[in-house]
Amino acid sequence: MSQMRKDIFTDRWVIVADGDGLQPTDFHFKKFAKETGFCPFCESNEAATPPEVFVIRNPDSSPNGPGWSVRVVPNSRPRLRVEGPLGRRAEALHDLMNGVGAHEIIAETPRHDRSLHELEIEEISNVIRAYIARILDLEGDQHVRYVLIFKNHGEGAGAHTISHSISQLVALPVTPRAVKTKLMIARDYFALKERCIYCDVLQQELKGRKRLIGENDDFVAFAPFASRFPFEMAVLPKFHSSAFSRIGATQIENLARILRNLLQKLDQTIGGPPYNLSLHDRPVLRPRGNYLNTIEEDFHWHIEILPQMFRVTGFEWASGFFYNPVSPELAARHLSLGLPV
Ligand SMILES: [Zn+2]
Ligand SMILES: [Zn+2]
Repeated sequence: MSQMRKDIFTDRWVIVADGDGLQPTDFHFKKFAKETGFCPFCESNEAATPPEVFVIRNPDSSPNGPGWSVRVVPNSRPRLRVEGPLGRRAEALHDLMNGVGAHEIIAETPRHDRSLHELEIEEISNVIRAYIARILDLEGDQHVRYVLIFKNHGEGAGAHTISHSISQLVALPVTPRAVKTKLMIARDYFALKERCIYCDVLQQELKGRKRLIGENDDFVAFAPFASRFPFEMAVLPKFHSSAFSRIGATQIENLARILRNLLQKLDQTIGGPPYNLSLHDRPVLRPRGNYLNTIEEDFHWHIEILPQMFRVTGFEWASGFFYNPVSPELAARHLSLGLPV
């Protein structure tokens, strides 16, 4: 019989299939086929994008020219713009504000024929350094309340207009609802138990091991108890930390290592499905009310990797429930990295 499982971090219910019915080969999805036309994110095409706002490049190279490892540019068709006032107002009962914020593209490699999991550890570390540098910079903008970083890999995950390996950053003037829900639940758990809910769950997963996928000195990856998607993965620092941007040099390298191993496993064992990767970080800390008072102790940043092997349907949209045909325990067996990575 299937099970209904409640996600402890979001209070969301998921219907999880039982048993070992499905295998990775039962899913049919389109592998990422890269377009080969002109690409503004390839090396030597730098003039086709707005000027870089962050870059890690060879010291002999010139800004906005070739010779870089990771390059961040504003999106030329942004969802939000940095300039101008917020202009909070009402339209009848609805709240409205100007689309103030930032939308940036992080080109993870100068090469068009490489995906994130095919890069060297040092190159992936540079991508993480770019995320950190942009978060620290945008935190200084008084309008920015939340910096969202995500990645769409493959057409089925939304990467149909750009096939170069990129991540995206959207700086928002509000904290997204999905994040707020997690913050509230973590805060309430802390108020009750004086412990971080994420630290508690990760200790359990490390002890129980049936949903454990891999670990190294600083990070652990597991299939969440109430996974919404087949082969969903969560990556958490083993040490308690509310802010992604505060990680140190060795931790950056260990994060690059575990991410590369997980994404390679997804490619090799599951057949390279489309996926979305997103960073769940704390919001920018500014005094507002007191709901963030204990955030440094109660929230624990993490990364979600969500393979997209079928479309979300009317059932999911209408009910808010997800149906996952592959149990996380089975997913962890397929994805397991074996020895510490
Ligand atoms: Zn390209
Ligand atoms: Zn914690």
